[in-house]
Amino acid sequence: MLLVPVFYDWIKIEIIALMQIVLRVLAFIWASPYSLLGLLLGVIGLCTGGRARIRGRTIEFHGGAVKWFVAHLPPGSLTLAITLGHTILGQSDASLDNARDHEMVHVRQFERWGPLMGPAYLLASLGLWFAGRNPYR
Ligand SMILES: [Zn+2]
Repeated sequence: MLLVPVFYDWIKIEIIALMQIVLRVLAFIWASPYSLLGLLLGVIGLCTGGRARIRGRTIEFHGGAVKWFVAHLPPGSLTLAITLGHTILGQSDASLDNARDHEMVHVRQFERWGPLMGPAYLLASLGLWFAGRNPYR
């Protein structure tokens, strides 16, 4: 008789764990259009002397053409890194280390917004720009 409540608790824990896995897989699929773009840029970086590493649920790329790409983004050459889905592109391994906490916020935004992240980010940046505020502050 005592086993029945324990069994139901076990089932409940297993269902919660399964739902977390399903949500994680859905988040990867939802963010995948941007992740694929990041992977393409990362592979170009690898072919031009760059490096890659896995950190948590992201792949980080740095160096090679990725360094050039990040340095030539609109915010300017001081840009440390940029997030595309579950990929983070940085100028160097040190810039990735410095920017990781900030970029993980963007990873969670990509998981929440999926394909809508690009337009949402642009609209938010434009809104701040028209309000006379710097979107990168
Ligand atoms: Zn940012």
